[in-house]
Amino acid sequence: MGKIHQLSPSVVNKIAAGEVIERPASVVKELIENSLDAGATRIDVLVVRGGTDLIRISDNGLGMAKEDLPLAVASHATSKIADADDLFRVGTLGFRGEALASIAEISRLTIRSRSADDSVGAQLDVRGGRSEEMVPCGCATGTTMEVSDLFFNTPVRRKFLRSTQTEMAHIAEALLRIALAHPQVHFTLRHNDREVYDLPPADPWIERIQRALGAEIAGRLIWVESRDESIALSGYVAHPSQSRSNQKMQYLFLNGRSIRDRSLQHALGEAYRGLLLTGRYPISFLRFDLPPELVDVNVHPTKLEVRFQDGGRLYSQLLSTIRTKFLTADLSTPLQPVPASEPDNQTAWLQNAGQAMKVRQELVEWATQAVSSWNSGPRAAEGTTTPLNPSETAPHRPLEITQLSRSWPAVNTPDEEFEPHAIPATQGLPERDAIDLAAAIDQSNPARPALQIHNRYLIAESPDGVVVIDQHALHERILYEQLCEKIETGELESQHLLVPEPVDLSSGEAAAILEHQDVIAKLGIQVQPFGGDTILVSSYPALLANMTPSHILRGIVEQLMEKGKSPDRRDLLQDLLHSVACKAAIKAGDRLTSDEISTLLEQRHRYRYTHHCPHGRPTELVFTREELDKQFKRT
Ligand code: ADP
Ligand code: MG
Repeated sequence: MGKIHQLSPSVVNKIAAGEVIERPASVVKELIENSLDAGATRIDVLVVRGGTDLIRISDNGLGMAKEDLPLAVASHATSKIADADDLFRVGTLGFRGEALASIAEISRLTIRSRSADDSVGAQLDVRGGRSEEMVPCGCATGTTMEVSDLFFNTPVRRKFLRSTQTEMAHIAEALLRIALAHPQVHFTLRHNDREVYDLPPADPWIERIQRALGAEIAGRLIWVESRDESIALSGYVAHPSQSRSNQKMQYLFLNGRSIRDRSLQHALGEAYRGLLLTGRYPISFLRFDLPPELVDVNVHPTKLEVRFQDGGRLYSQLLSTIRTKFLTADLSTPLQPVPASEPDNQTAWLQNAGQAMKVRQELVEWATQAVSSWNSGPRAAEGTTTPLNPSETAPHRPLEITQLSRSWPAVNTPDEEFEPHAIPATQGLPERDAIDLAAAIDQSNPARPALQIHNRYLIAESPDGVVVIDQHALHERILYEQLCEKIETGELESQHLLVPEPVDLSSGEAAAILEHQDVIAKLGIQVQPFGGDTILVSSYPALLANMTPSHILRGIVEQLMEKGKSPDRRDLLQDLLHSVACKAAIKAGDRLTSDEISTLLEQRHRYRYTHHCPHGRPTELVFTREELDKQFKRT
């Protein structure tokens, strides 16, 4: 180390540039923001070779007076704030006054600008921070910025650049974020000779989203909005059938600025809890508008992150707004597969599509059978081997869905309570219910019974068509909601066993159970050590009375062992709830009586989120009447 000395402005600018200009996309972002701050209503961006050769941005904004051009490229020169107080009420996108200086330091920058008051424009060339003489030029009102040879004098930065394609993807994303935040402005983006975006002014906002991201996403968005004192929240969240494998599609805008905020993203995830599979993330386009003094935008060089004065309030506002909306929104999954544009989604989509096609085929088959059976009378139907034929059904398993709605007698010996009850093999199912369903479609009578097929799906009428319900998934969700509700309200009824049941475990398992005794107790399950590796279950929830205590405990052990050491208590309780609900729910293959079916369907309307199982799989697929009409060639 040598003596301390002042760094030259050029070095200072290069350091600043390092913070602000990470890659070509950063240049695009900074320049577009300047154009917006200048009031532009049209911004055209041309990029050559991923931005390393050329980035040209033209706007029709206010432009600059000739004498301002040299100032624009000087560091810490800005027209946007005057004193430090202004920092706390920033109304423009820029305010640091270092973007142009930074860009000019590490590229060849040409500025052409004309304000409305001037008859001719001015041009200034800066290369590596050194300005040439200004010259007059003919140009329209507004500003054109041309950045070429980016990073020519910072070889290390240049080396870190990725492929043209990757850099271009970053540029497109940077422009998209800004364009989504400013739908009233016309944006275009060209790469070499190719048009990437042409986004004319859009109103309403959804038009911009659709134009930029396609009808598939835009078509399944749900509007949300709320106001909490000075904080206004509005925008769209996607239907759970649309999700992504990462959080990139979570667009958050704060006062016209695209931001990243982990806390708000977490709130978003919470709002979708139980509606998406693990590893899937919701899509959102959400705007927060709040007084500038409630947020500090000066905490991050590129202003991508901000600091809220009251982040907790924003968190709960976002969470409760979406949750409230979901209570009334139609979140059932349409049977028609929607093609995904996202490449990583392709395989998932193909699988879904395959599954949907299978269900559709079964449904059409069933409907055809049903129709032919009405036409030829009951006798013909008897002779057919429709999937509905009870003789084909799986072995009967103990099942009492009606338990859901009735209060339980104390269970002393749970095993005996639930002896399998036989279902007569000659139950007159096929033609009666088939006709009922047909009548139901005609009369739209919600009281009509649904039909069970393959001992796993229920078919019922929905307001706009036919709904196919996965009996296990639906029951699982209902049990889960009931458990949650009872735990929340402290009304979870626990059955005390007259004779506590000993369960033999491995020593690791026993230790895990005892370590989490308190979380397990929240589920209404009392356990205590009983010497060796035996655990004594002395009570368990009445809701789960169709399971034996050891069955429940083993399910819990599985979860605990899977979770490993010291899991988060909240997560653990959730996981245990999921697993208990899954284990206790009726299974695919369980034959249901019509009473059981009615109870299940009735419960479906009593609880929240019954359109998805707690793991996020849909519990029901809607087959619209239009689709039926189309398949039957009625249209
Ligand atoms: P900041 O945006 O933080 O003020 P910049 O370095 O990005 O800093 O820009 C410096 C100044 O140059 C701005 O304050 C503005 O006055 C002027 N300027 C930059 N770009 C434009 C433009 N496209 N139109 C009009 N003025 C501009
Ligand atoms: Mg700026």
